[in-house]
Amino acid sequence: MGLTGLDIFKQLPKTNCGDCGVPTCLAFAMKLAQKQASLDQCPHVSEEATAALSGAAAPPIKLITVGADERKLEVGNETVLFRHEETFYHPTGIAVAVDAALPEAELSARIKAIGDVSFERVGQTLTLNAVALKGEGEAFVKAAALAAQQSAVPLILVNEDPAVMGEALKACAGKRPLIYAATAENVDAMAALSKEHNCPLAVRGSDLSSLADLSEKAQAAGAADLVLDSGAREPAAVLANETAIRRAALRKRFRPLGFPTIVFTDGADPLEETQQAATYIAKYAGIVVINNMEPWELLTLVTVRQNIYTDPQKPIQIEEGLYEIGSPDESSPVLVTTNFSLTYFTVEGDVEASRVPAWVVVVDTEGTSVLTAWAAEKFTAEIIAEKVKAFDVASKVNHRKLVIPGHVAVLSGKLEDELSQEWKIVVGPRESSGIPTFLRTSWEA
Ligand code: SF4
Repeated sequence: MGLTGLDIFKQLPKTNCGDCGVPTCLAFAMKLAQKQASLDQCPHVSEEATAALSGAAAPPIKLITVGADERKLEVGNETVLFRHEETFYHPTGIAVAVDAALPEAELSARIKAIGDVSFERVGQTLTLNAVALKGEGEAFVKAAALAAQQSAVPLILVNEDPAVMGEALKACAGKRPLIYAATAENVDAMAALSKEHNCPLAVRGSDLSSLADLSEKAQAAGAADLVLDSGAREPAAVLANETAIRRAALRKRFRPLGFPTIVFTDGADPLEETQQAATYIAKYAGIVVINNMEPWELLTLVTVRQNIYTDPQKPIQIEEGLYEIGSPDESSPVLVTTNFSLTYFTVEGDVEASRVPAWVVVVDTEGTSVLTAWAAEKFTAEIIAEKVKAFDVASKVNHRKLVIPGHVAVLSGKLEDELSQEWKIVVGPRESSGIPTFLRTSWEA
C-alpha cells in the first residue's frame, strides 16, 4: 500500500507558501499521493522527510533492466499479487540456456536462432528475451564476447568465478548483461563487479532466509539492481518460493526481497520443461531460463505469457482503419467489424479461408466485440457511417455494398440513411465462421 495524502501531509512544512504551484501543503500532498506531482517540486521539504517519503514512494519490486539496446529486457515493478486486482506490467523474460563450450559455429547458430524466434499472435510480435550463457574459464569469456558482438538479445552470464566473470564483463562492455550469480561464497566480489560495470546482479540463496541475507549484503557492497534466485529447482518448491517472495515484497514491503526473480527449469524433457516454465510465468518469475527450443514449446510459452500479461481492463485491440485482406480491388467486398483483436483476426482468418480478397472497415470500439460494442453504443449506424466516410471507402470500390455482421442486422435501415442511401447494406453471417461460405456463394459486387 502506498502512503495516503494525510501520511504525506504530516511530513510537509505546512506553511502553505504555494511555491510548489498549488496553494496549500495539503493539496500538494494529495497530488503526490495520486502521483500527479513529485516531491522535488517543494523546495522546503526537510532531508528527513525526503528520505522517508522517497523510501515509501519506491516501488515494492524494483524495475530491473537487462541489456542496453532496443531489445533490452525490463522486469519487476509489479504491484499486485493477482492480475485482476490491476494488471501485471512487465512480462516474464524467456531466456534460453546456451553452452559456452559448443564449437564456435554451433554456438553462433544457437545464439542467432534465439534472436530470430518470432511469433505473430493477435497482432503482436512475440519473441524470446535473453541468452543464458553457461560455461567455464576462457571458453566462457570467448563465448561472451561472441554473443555480445553477434546479438542484440540481452545476455545472462552464468559463471560463479569472479575472475572469469570480470573478464567476461569486459568482453561485454556496454551490453549490461545480468551477472549470475552471487552466492554466500562470492557475494562481495560479484557485488563489486556489478557496481564497477553497472550491471544487474542475480543473487542465489539456498532458501528464502539466506536469499534475503545475500540481498542485503550485495546491496551493502554497492550492487543496487538485483534479481533473486531462491535456489529451488523442484517445481513445487519454486512455486512456493516465488509466491512467498512476491507476498513479502508487496504485502510486507520487505525490501531485501523487493526485486524480480529468476528461475531455471530442471528437466531436459521439453514437455516437462514447458509445464514448469508455464507455471513459473503464471507465478511470478521475472525471468525463466529454459533449455530447449522446440517450436511448439516456445509457442506455448509466449502464448501463456501474452495472455497473463494482457491488461484485463484493456482488451487487445488493433488500430481502426480500412484493412486489406489478400489483394482486394474495386469489385471486392467491403465488410465492417470492430477493433477487438480476437474479433478482427478471426474475421481476417475467415476471409483468407474464403480466398475472396476483401476490404475490412475496422471501427474503434475500444477493443470490444460486435455485440458488446453495439450494446454499449460504440458500434452504431452513425459511427459506422462516419468511419466509412473517413476512410474514403467509396474511392476504393466501384460498387456500394457494405457487409455488416449478422448480429447487428438491426442497424441496416439506419445505416443506409446515414450513408444517404448511396450504399446498400448487406447483412452478413452472424458468426465469422460463416464468412467463407457467404463470400463464396452470396457475394456479388
Ligand atoms: S512548496 Fe512545500 S511548503 Fe510550500 S505549499 Fe507547497 S508543499 Fe507546502
